[in-house]
Amino acid sequence: MIPIKRHRTRKVYIGDVPVGGGSPITVQSMTNTDSHNIKELIEQILELEKAGCSLIRIALPDMDACDSIPALKKRIHIPLIGDVHFDHRIAIRAIEKGIDALRLNPGNIREKEKVKGIVKLAKKRKIPIRIGVNSGSVDRRKYSSNSPESLIKSALDHIKILEKEDFSDIIVSLKSTDVLITIEAYKKFATLRDYPLHIGITEAGTRIYGSLKSAVGLGILLYLGLGDTIRVSLSASPVEEVTTGYRILRSLGIYTRSVEVISCPTCARTAFDVENTALRIETLVSGIRKRMKIAIMGCLVNGPGEARDADIGVAGSKNEVLLFKKGRLIKKIRPDRIEQEIMEWIKKS
Ligand code: SF4
Repeated sequence: MIPIKRHRTRKVYIGDVPVGGGSPITVQSMTNTDSHNIKELIEQILELEKAGCSLIRIALPDMDACDSIPALKKRIHIPLIGDVHFDHRIAIRAIEKGIDALRLNPGNIREKEKVKGIVKLAKKRKIPIRIGVNSGSVDRRKYSSNSPESLIKSALDHIKILEKEDFSDIIVSLKSTDVLITIEAYKKFATLRDYPLHIGITEAGTRIYGSLKSAVGLGILLYLGLGDTIRVSLSASPVEEVTTGYRILRSLGIYTRSVEVISCPTCARTAFDVENTALRIETLVSGIRKRMKIAIMGCLVNGPGEARDADIGVAGSKNEVLLFKKGRLIKKIRPDRIEQEIMEWIKKS
């Protein structure tokens, strides 16, 4: 595996999770249940934790939503980020209630004194603030075009407000729905400031297209060494966002503590149901935090050889399936035993 050289950013802590400064790249998501419904929020966040989500954001549309924070924090195990727009009172209430970080664009709060109030409290409680600029939130009165420059200038407008208050626990995101604009924006921004980068493609789309678009955009950014925390934005379950995030990292060899399932494209030699077996195994291993590669190969002719670097794999042969480890055949198994054999082996490893 060729290691990726990461762009150096400063380190910021969200709760006990480090972001930037060479820390492991985290995968985060955002809840999509009602922010006032504590039971549903807890259920969803616990499910996301199981999928490996490291940081979770909730929308805080009003003061009442902030009242969910203490109860949530008691039941969940990952840091909680509050998404606040325009209203400084919500930001202050969220900090007072124990939020671990805020997503807030201070330029949207008109009065400087109100921003000062938030910054003062954030500093005192060591609460980082993410400046989250996306193509839809760029100030159109100042920056007319959808371009990398307008995303950067918009972010700098917000950043300078915090810097003026001597606040540096900042994380930045510059998301466009356009992959190339997003890439250029992050690339240029990285030459201007060393704040950790939250990367993503905004409004990427539905499960399949949005995952592909995110994989292309985030894949290129990560290859360039950019990105300290990622969010895949999908019109789908947040759990899907987290799973996709890990798959993107895993495909680049970045996140090592996850199980990768590879499978052959199938052809006339295929001797068993490769597609559905691979899909079932993918589901079974999705929450396992071990560095492993599993290969599901259609035939014995090419399977074990092609998947030589897999830790364990199966290859079909007439009516049976052969289990192999590192390309070496171990034993014959019945096709209906594949999942069980592989899972038992993962557990033992
Ligand atoms: S591993 Fe075998 S079945 Fe799969 S594509 Fe290659 S030759 Fe075909």
